[in-house]
Amino acid sequence: MSKTKKIYLSSPHLGHNEQKYVAEAFDTNWIAPLGPNVTKFEESLSGYMGASAEVAMLSSGTAALHLALEILGVERDDEVLCQSFTFSASANPILYLGAIPVFIDSEKSTWNICPELLEQAIKERMAKGKKPKAIIAVHLYGMPYLVDEVNAVAQRYDIPIIEDSAEALGSTYKNIKCGNLATLGVVSFNGNKIITTSGGGALVSKDWKTRDRAIFLATQARDDAPHYQHSHVGYNYRMSNVLAGIGRGQLEVLQDRVAARRANHAFYQENLKQFDTIQFLEEPEGFHSNRWLTTIVMESYEQREHLRLALLTDDIESRPLWKPLHEQPIFKNYPNKLNGVSSELFSKGLCLPSGSNLTDEDRSRIMNVILKALKK
Ligand SMILES: *Cc1c(COP(=O)(O)O)cnc(C)c1O
Repeated sequence: MSKTKKIYLSSPHLGHNEQKYVAEAFDTNWIAPLGPNVTKFEESLSGYMGASAEVAMLSSGTAALHLALEILGVERDDEVLCQSFTFSASANPILYLGAIPVFIDSEKSTWNICPELLEQAIKERMAKGKKPKAIIAVHLYGMPYLVDEVNAVAQRYDIPIIEDSAEALGSTYKNIKCGNLATLGVVSFNGNKIITTSGGGALVSKDWKTRDRAIFLATQARDDAPHYQHSHVGYNYRMSNVLAGIGRGQLEVLQDRVAARRANHAFYQENLKQFDTIQFLEEPEGFHSNRWLTTIVMESYEQREHLRLALLTDDIESRPLWKPLHEQPIFKNYPNKLNGVSSELFSKGLCLPSGSNLTDEDRSRIMNVILKALKK
């Protein structure tokens, strides 16, 4: 086989102004975890999120989740309800705090946290004498979760929701931006996400007091004194002013990136509609996904592996869907509430190359391999 370039699942895609903003940081010697790029990036993301969003830029999405849990008062031995079908970073911060994750399976229409199972789990935990402290709901692959239904359950029991929107910047639910739909929202700018600062994240809150608290904790929890004085455990979680320069440039092209990823999804769907053995995740009414990754579900594990390996042979990266956390070695002994949906998706599902920088040539190369693999 002739040597062709590797096609990645999702790789960084820079716009026009990133280098200019990074150069400003150098020119003004703001090479620090604060500075004008951080401030401007926060202002523009707040403006994008809309309605009273207060943004704190942080070193990662994981850091934002950690601070969100801490701000909601999660402590050792508290229980936190968490979507099982997600990346491990959604749940790791629960363990950082010594708290206990309770994993909730997904429903079929969005693949995200199932509101019925969520309510059953809340009732069961309360019957055991413990009310869960928080809910972590994820907009996986960019598809919003059933926001109205999940929020209704949360409100009924007065439990705050942390919205893990790490994969869903640019998605909306009933025209509200993902990341600004719940008590606290988390965004990631990791290298594989829809826009990137190479590494970074944000915590989105509804009031400046919460934002101040996040920044206090993220900057070593320094008390108001001329010397260094501390009455709380602090973290070093603030975003660098250099990386915020990349973020400013990336946010300017977010809408283009969403459009390109949605076009990838439409391309795969159109070209694979002849196969009724392949299922796509449809957008319910009022849901708008950034289509961070295009995902398909096949008839069997064997068929999925056949396709994945055929792509790999041609140097094209694809990946099984997230392995549910309740099946992960580090999480499998924690309580859970299951219905089999996420396990089945994991066994039959595949993420296809979805970068906003895929060329027409890349797409036809990928499609040729898929069609050849499916016809055997
Ligand atoms: C990427 C990701 C995170 C973590 O974000 P980082 O910025 O990489 O720390 C959390 N949750 C989900 C669902 C993610 O995909």
